[in-house]
Amino acid sequence: MPLLSIDQVTLRYTAGGTAAVDGLSLALEPGETVALLGPSGCGKTTMLRLIAGFERPDTGRITLEERVLAGPGTFVPPDQRRVGMVFQDFALFPHLSVLDNVTFGLKPLPRREQEPRARAMLELFGLGDFEARMPHELSGGQQQRVALARALAPGPRMLLLDEAFSSLDAALRASTRLEVRRVLMSLKTTVLLVTHDQSEAMAFADRLAVMRAGKVEQVGSPESLYQAPRNAFVASFLGGTNLLPGSASGTEAQTRLGGVPLSGPAQGQVLLSLRPEALLLVADTGAAAPGGSLRAEILTREFQGHMIEFTVRCGERELKVRGAPELPLRPGDSARLEVVGQAVVLEEAAPP
Ligand code: ATP
Repeated sequence: MPLLSIDQVTLRYTAGGTAAVDGLSLALEPGETVALLGPSGCGKTTMLRLIAGFERPDTGRITLEERVLAGPGTFVPPDQRRVGMVFQDFALFPHLSVLDNVTFGLKPLPRREQEPRARAMLELFGLGDFEARMPHELSGGQQQRVALARALAPGPRMLLLDEAFSSLDAALRASTRLEVRRVLMSLKTTVLLVTHDQSEAMAFADRLAVMRAGKVEQVGSPESLYQAPRNAFVASFLGGTNLLPGSASGTEAQTRLGGVPLSGPAQGQVLLSLRPEALLLVADTGAAAPGGSLRAEILTREFQGHMIEFTVRCGERELKVRGAPELPLRPGDSARLEVVGQAVVLEEAAPP
């Protein structure tokens, strides 16, 4: 039984305008973390606001633990939903101490229970020594953890995170994310995270829901979406890819790069996703080309520490290729290219 069910929810901000959320359905199991992922303007924040009760759906139904929060003839106000939310800017009360920020949401509890509960939550996030500080006396990462402690203190049934790591710098973001994930897992909190950052979504969530234009395009584990994207949009958005038309026969397709192995059998004209790491670049030594390799010209090179991302021209095509950081190739160099991985057959037809 899902904890949260979103069934066919639609919202238009203006009557007759484009739907910001368009017949969206999604279910979250108790204790799981799902990331809503997609390009700017695809409706991620709107979906969170609908769950939190800051927006009312035009049609559809939102159910939390079998209680309808929003649906035909029903609308539960935000403060009665038992849903916690953390925003990108953390929205701490600047004039309240850390402890008072966290006790703020605990007003319905008897007074003697408020502070111990807030302190326990701060302790959980490693903020036990910071309770007397004001928000401006904290680092960005500490503020974020106070915001989480405040959202979780009242014991919400689930937590919504709206780009909650985006304002932190890269290193802090990665370490804070790990720490927060650990705490949320220990509390068995059900989490819906909105982000436009695919690596954050893949690192943080049990499942991803990739959105485009108000709709969910594909839902699944990060591994399954990366390895088996349904369409070109998901393949390109999640990890980047090369789209290649081909003619499939069983588990191989003929393409402009020659024969390419497929991850599953197919027949006829197909559109393929070939990940950059499914291609291997080697320096062109001028010696006779090894069997199956193609000539490629390096167009761009982006060093990323653990690997280099190249754009190469191969015949008339430009391709993305990932290579080892020690590859001595520079823009203008010629190289050899080999297909070393499998391509995935996408559901859309190849262009004629
Ligand atoms: P981002 O990643 O840039 O935050 P998003 O995926 O969260 O984007 P939303 O903020 O949900 O997208 O916006 C979805 C669509 O709804 C966009 O076209 C946006 O312009 C529109 N929109 C959002 N809020 C309002 C509003 N209050 N009034 C009218 N249109 C809005």
